[in-house]
Parts: sequence; structure tokens; C-alpha cells
Amino acid sequence: MSNIESDNRGLLLACPNCGKRNRLKYEGLGQTFRCAQCKNELPSPREPIDIKSDLVFDALTSRSTLPVLVDFWAPWCGPCKMVAPELVKVAAETSGHFVVAKVNTEQLPSLARRFRVTAIPTMAVFKGGIEVAHQAGAMPAPAIRKFVEPWR
Ligand SMILES: [Zn+2]
Repeated sequence: MSNIESDNRGLLLACPNCGKRNRLKYEGLGQTFRCAQCKNELPSPREPIDIKSDLVFDALTSRSTLPVLVDFWAPWCGPCKMVAPELVKVAAETSGHFVVAKVNTEQLPSLARRFRVTAIPTMAVFKGGIEVAHQAGAMPAPAIRKFVEPWR
């Protein structure tokens, strides 16, 4: 499970120094954020973020200053389970350059329909609210990195 939550304005994460929850606005991702309480620098998100609604998905993909890698998955999908730890690696390795998000297509079927996800897992990259890359099939971390690298 992700320790990072998301709402329609930004990512919510706890300061590793003092524990205060901070919001990283989508518009500012890729820049340096400081904790509102202790003023320590906050680390860039380095784990996949679970998207909970269409609204949050739209807010993130349209406003994020960083490109967003989205994994469309489902709980019943075997290959998706193999991709999950690979995606965790990619999120850590590309921290500060990409936002890595996960969409459960069982919970959010409207997103799967909108982006023509006909097989899962499917990975897609969004830049400035536009889907710029789309690929079905499980990939190991190095292949996922190669897939996103052109959009960095
Ligand atoms: Zn703090």
C-alpha cells in the first residue's frame, strides 16, 4: 500500500522528519517542497500512488508538471501482480522526474474505457493532460524505464 495519498489538489504525504502531513500541489511537482511545520525539505514521491477517483486522475494528469506513468491493473490479473514490485522500483528510480500512479480498473472502469484499455496490465504516459504513450503487457523494471524515458 502506498503511504502517499492524493486528492484533487495534490499529493499528501507525511514529513519524514516531524510527521506533519503536507500537500504537494500538482503544479509544483519536480520543485522543492518544504514541510509547513519543520521547514525541512520534503523528498520527491518515490512510490506508486493509488488513484481513487476520476476527479483525482484528471487533476493529477492535467496539472502535474512532471509526466505521469499510469499502470492500469486489476486485482484478478496475475501478470499485474508481477508488475507491482517492478513499478515500485521504477517509482524509486525515477523519483523527481516522473509521478507513478496506479489505476484499479475494477474500481475505475470509466478510466479504462476512456483510455481504451483493452488488456491489462497496460501502461500509459501522460504529459500535460495528454496521453503520449500506451502499451499493453507486463514489463520488468528496465523495460518500463525504457518505455517512459523519452518523456522525461
Ligand atoms: Zn516536518
